This record gives sequence, structure tokens and C-alpha cells, in this order.
Amino acid sequence: MRYISTRGASPPVGFVDAVLAGLAPDGGLYVPESWPQFSAGEIARMAGRPYAEVAAAVLGRFAGDEIPEADLLAMCRQAYAAFDHPAVVPLVQLAPDIFLAELFHGPSLAFKDVAMQLLAGLSDFVLERAGRTQTILCATSGDTGGAAVEAFRGRSNTRIVAMFPEGRISEVQRRFMTTATEDNVRCLAVAGDFDTCQAILKTALGDPVLQQAVGLSAVNSINFARIVAQSVYYFTTALALGAPHRPVSFAVPSGNFGDGFAGYVAYRMGLPIGRILIATNANDILARTFRTGLYARGTVAETQSPAMDIQSASNFERLFFESVDRDGPATAEAFRGFAEGRSISVPPQALEAMTRLFAGETTDEAATSEAMRLALSETGETVDPHTAVALSALRRSPGTGPTVVLATAHPAKFPEAVLAATGHAPSAPERAQALAGRPERYESIAADAALVSAYVRAFAGA
Ligand SMILES: *Cc1c(COP(=O)(O)O)cnc(C)c1O
Repeated sequence: MRYISTRGASPPVGFVDAVLAGLAPDGGLYVPESWPQFSAGEIARMAGRPYAEVAAAVLGRFAGDEIPEADLLAMCRQAYAAFDHPAVVPLVQLAPDIFLAELFHGPSLAFKDVAMQLLAGLSDFVLERAGRTQTILCATSGDTGGAAVEAFRGRSNTRIVAMFPEGRISEVQRRFMTTATEDNVRCLAVAGDFDTCQAILKTALGDPVLQQAVGLSAVNSINFARIVAQSVYYFTTALALGAPHRPVSFAVPSGNFGDGFAGYVAYRMGLPIGRILIATNANDILARTFRTGLYARGTVAETQSPAMDIQSASNFERLFFESVDRDGPATAEAFRGFAEGRSISVPPQALEAMTRLFAGETTDEAATSEAMRLALSETGETVDPHTAVALSALRRSPGTGPTVVLATAHPAKFPEAVLAATGHAPSAPERAQALAGRPERYESIAADAALVSAYVRAFAGA
């Protein structure tokens, strides 16, 4: 399987190179040259198999012959052994046709662990085989950083620098990064918002000299391996609810659109999905786009669901590319313009293609709190504010047939918001309690790509 850039101006690369590079040299994102398929029979036979086996089957279609099947399976087993639930992603029923997929049973209590644990094993395997090391620069809206630090801490062939927007993430989120004591971990508090951090990351990744000097790599959801890893739970949860014999729908709390696009990947591989409801907080660029066809940045508002305080959803570029029939030059022009501050008018046919699968819904702060309160009073479930955004969206825009709501974080990651909304503090799993008393280690830095590059070079000793 080869990977091409959404901007059409980079040579195709193999799976391993696409994973290690993150961003393509022309600034685009990698997608597979063609979408691998599962027949309905093949999907049906996945039912009831352990999560790691389904993950290996899905990943295998994308890795092709670059990674032996047995190694993939071993990697998946190891990644998911770090989860504290035997189902890895258990389903909880909230209403006759509404189910929560608990994606937060990994080491940092957010769904980012599902992909990051696997990505770390995968990187280790290919780096060791190639005799290389890498430096990961990571921009986080709160949870990616913690998941990445948890996954890569102590790995001898990887250095990791996690950038987070200073003062804009929860204390628990911050502590998952800053309490790591391993030498290969550094944390930077950037004086800016998440979009600023992401822009700094993109600048660094677009610098071939830096890339060469430090073996720069990205683990944000622009990394295609993460998207593939996330498509796995669309399969396992849909299978549990009757797919492929009936379609299943999803409601997805969204920011950077990695999780939403993972659903698209499962759909393109043959999983019957009725609808994917993209649920945003006040930072509603995606929901607006699906409603109006105009992809236009707003100002970032701070909300109680900070992992979605994003006005530039990187993975939308992948959906755009698919929806304009893989027109690389058109995608390049649109997203270069967007980076320069212009908005993107999605062509009518492309919008129609997108909205055959996707719908968008925006939830404000009061409705988010109300959804947390209702979940507790009606079902006894404590949900985090991100999950609440999706529950609220689904209430206003109900689907047909079974719908899986992706529960993207453990409520204990956002104790203040949960307490304020429900009157009850969520109980913290051991993993969160253990962080409280530990010393933190991070440096503050100006929102300046050159400063960050210099920092990364110094850390890598380059
Ligand atoms: C990252 C994150 C999201 C948003 O996911 P995207 O893939 O960026 O759309 C939602 N909820 C939580 C808790 C997250 O950490």
C-alpha cells in the first residue's frame, strides 16, 4: 500500500515512511492510494474477536507487506494490554438506541491512548529495524500530549517535546505530561492557544533542515497511523450492535476531526455506517461547514471541553480531498489559502458528498452542563464535558437506529466542570490520583516557531 499527499505534489511513500513523516513534504496529509476493503462476510467474522485482533486485521490492510502480520498482532496485543478493561473499548447502554463507547480506559484516561499506545509500539519497531532515532514534536489541546508522553516515555529511540497552550488545559491534563521524570520527555507551555501551537508544529514539520537534523516526527492526528488505529473501535462497537447486518450511527465530540475522519475510514473500508454526527462546542467550524459549505475560521473560545477549542480542523483537509475526487491542486490551493487567513468554499457537489455521511451540531456551555446533569440523573452515568457535547447534539438531532456516542475522556480528567454541572465530583481512578502530589517539570516559551525549533535542536543535541 502506498500513500499519497492531499496536495498532490509529493512522491508516494510506503506505510512506514508515511507514519514516520507525519506531514508530506508539500504540506499535505498522507492518505492511502486506494481504500482497502473488507467484504460484509469478513466484517461479520470479526464479531466477538478480541479488540487487539480486530486492530491487527484493520492495520494489516494499511501496512500491506511492510510489517509482518505476526509482529502487528504482537504490537496490538501489547498496546491494549495497557488498558484497564478487558474489552479495551466497552459499550454502556444509555437508552434503547443510544450507547456510550468508553474510550478512556488507557493510561492517560482519554481516547488518544487508543491510537498512541499502538503508534508508540509501531514507531519502536520500525526505528529499531532502521537503526534510527526520532524526535517527536507534539501540539496538544490537552489530551494528545498526555497520551503521547505516557506512550513514549522511557523509549530509548524517541525524544518527545509536548507543547500545550499555557493556562488553557485542565490541571489533570497538564500533570499527565509534566510529571513524567524520564529524560526523553520535555514539556513546553506556549503563550498562545492550541491553533498557535499547531501552526508552530506545522512550521517545524515544513522545515526540511530541522527534520533531517533531529529526525522530526509528529504524533498529532495528521499522522495517518493514528487515524487507522481509531477506525478500529468503529468496527468493534458497530459489530457489537448488529453490523454489518444493520447500519450503526455515531456521535463524535470533535475538534481536529481525527476521530470523525477515522469513522470515514471505517465507512470507506466497508463498514455500514448510517450517520456520523460531528458534535462541536462553541468552536463550531466543522458543524458550520457541514451546514453551510463555508470552512471559515472563527476566534477560539475557551470552553469546559478544551480538547475541542479548535478553529482549524487539520483532518478536514483529508475529507475535502476525498470529496473533490482527490483533486490535489484544488486541495493545495484551498488549504494554502486557509493557512493565509482565507476561508474555503466547499464546492456544492463536494458538500453533498460530505453530508451523505456527516452532519454537524453545535452545543453551547449551558447545554453541555445540562447534558452532564441529565446523563447522571437519567442513567446514573457520569460523563465528561466532551462526551456531554455529543450527547447534547444527539438529543437535538436524533438519528435512526442504534447510535454510538464516543466517550472521549474519563470524567475525572475534568473534575471541576463535572462537579459544577452535576453537584458530584467524579471519582478518580488510581492513575489520576497518583499524579496529584508529584512535582511538575515544564518550561514556558513565547509563541514563536523559531524559538521552538531552537529548543528542539538543543534537546536533540543537533
Ligand atoms: C482530542 C479530543 C477530542 C477531539 O478529537 P479530534 O480527533 O481532535 O476531533 C474530543 N474529546 C477529547 C476528550 C479529546 O481529547
